[in-house]
This record gives sequence, structure tokens and C-alpha cells, in this order.
Amino acid sequence: MAQIVISSEHIHGAFDKTVAPAAHAHSGDTAVFHCVDCYCGALHTDRMARSDMKVSIANPATGPLYIEEAKAGDILKVEILDIRPDTKGCMSARPGIGAYEIEPAVCRVFAVDPDAMTADFDGLTVALKPMIGVIGTAPAGDPVNTETPAEHGGNMDIKDMNAGNILYLPVEVDGALLSMGDIHGVQGDGETLICALEMNGTVTVRVTVLKDRADIPTPMIESPTHYMTTAAAPSLDDCSILAARKMHRFLMAHTGLDNPHAGMLLSLKGDLRISQIVNPNKGCIMAFPKDVIEIDFKA
Ligand code: CA
Ligand code: CA
Repeated sequence: MAQIVISSEHIHGAFDKTVAPAAHAHSGDTAVFHCVDCYCGALHTDRMARSDMKVSIANPATGPLYIEEAKAGDILKVEILDIRPDTKGCMSARPGIGAYEIEPAVCRVFAVDPDAMTADFDGLTVALKPMIGVIGTAPAGDPVNTETPAEHGGNMDIKDMNAGNILYLPVEVDGALLSMGDIHGVQGDGETLICALEMNGTVTVRVTVLKDRADIPTPMIESPTHYMTTAAAPSLDDCSILAARKMHRFLMAHTGLDNPHAGMLLSLKGDLRISQIVNPNKGCIMAFPKDVIEIDFKA
């Protein structure tokens, strides 16, 4: 079977059910997405002036991939098999953007060694942990721009969106319409400067359609060690509660524990984390370790 490859010509600025599929796949297929950095290549020269950056599409996503078996109401299991980073990463710092009192503005390009998985931060070696910033399916309702995370996924900027992990996304329209972009060479919790090590990258995923799995909250990440429910909302207070409640319901569905005891266990062993504070909706995750309970919902 021919490898499914979606080139970086297929970028768009919204998760939108009217965007024509760039490729078609069947459940169980693997596909390769060539992703473009969040500035769409506009930050190309070290220390260039921000005013010279002409961003054609902010935070573009590559896709969408139409999965033939996916029907509204299903779950799309996305196994992140590989994220190949580029040979450079870029960042922009400017006053009024992010958590810090930045002064002056600066645009930087840092060299990356994709084989050593390191970046040269002006002589400091920074280990990479490549991740996907933007990934999601098309919502049934109005389009959502690729800067906003919501229930369909989108600009989640979760540092655990790495190779080796699995993402569960909702299918809201037939075909699911999976897109992704905004590759980060590495990012900390919070993404506190509103950018990470922004870069082009090549992502390989396997997509599988799961039927009748309303017990799987979405978007959810599964790592070798944790389940992570995610939520996005305008305030950190709201999204932290949403992420925690998703995990509470997940534990009740899969442990046999009643409501208060699932809450007790989650308070003992769950970690509530901030994934990002910089997007139009903030993001939190609730992580629960597999050493307490491992759930077999892969069938
Ligand atoms: Ca992002
Ligand atoms: Ca980014």
C-alpha cells in the first residue's frame, strides 16, 4: 500500500469541516504530515526585525486527513509514531506578550541537531523533546481557528504530545478531518513566552477509529505511564476543573469505584497541571498514573 503523505502545501488556518481533504486513509493506516512552523516561515533570519515578519497564516495546520470509517460520535485514536524536527528552531520575544516583562523585542533562530536531538541556545545545549502544538479534528459547528484550543483539540500546546504517546480525539463529522502543525522542538508547561522552539517538522501517525467508546474522554493523551485528560477554557480556574472532572468520570467508568471514592483516589494520585497560559483558551491536564490502574480500552 502506498504511504500516505500530506505535503506542506496543504496548510490552513482553521479546523473547518468545509476544508477539502488533502488525503484519504482507512482505519489502521499510517500517514505522514509535513508541518510548517507557527510563523509560516516568516521568522527566517536570526535577529530580524519583528516588523519584517510577514506571517501569511498564523499557526498553520497541515491536512486534513479523511478517515473513511470515521463517523460522527466515534473516537479517533492517533498514535504518534515519530516527530522528526527541522535543523533550526525560532522564537520571538516582545513586550506585552506572554508572562514576562520583556524588553526589548528580539527574534531568534537557533541551530538544531535532529540526530542528537539538541538545540544550541547560544552555547547552552538544550535537549529536545519534540511535540505537536496544534492537532485536532474538524468541529461539527463553526470553524475554530488554529490558535484556539477547544473540545476538538486544536492549539493545545501540551508538552506531552510526543512520539510514543497516543491522542484520543472526538469525531464530530464524517471522516474526522485530522490536521496538525505547530511543531515544537521542546516546550515547558505553560508555554510562558507564547512561543516554544518553533519549527517545521515531519510527523508520522497511525489513525484508528474506535466505535461506541463514550467512556473515553476527549481530547485525552495516553503515555506509557499516564492517562491525561485535557481541557481548554478562557480561565485557568475553569479549565482546571473541567480537566479534573473529565478524569473523575473516566475513573468512575473504568475502576468500579463510586463517585466519592473515585474522587478520593484522584486527589491522592492525580496531578493537575497547566499546559499553557497564552492561547485564547487556557489549557490544563489532569494526569493519572498507570501504576495504580491500567485500563484496557484498546479493543
Ligand atoms: Ca501553539
Ligand atoms: Ca507554537
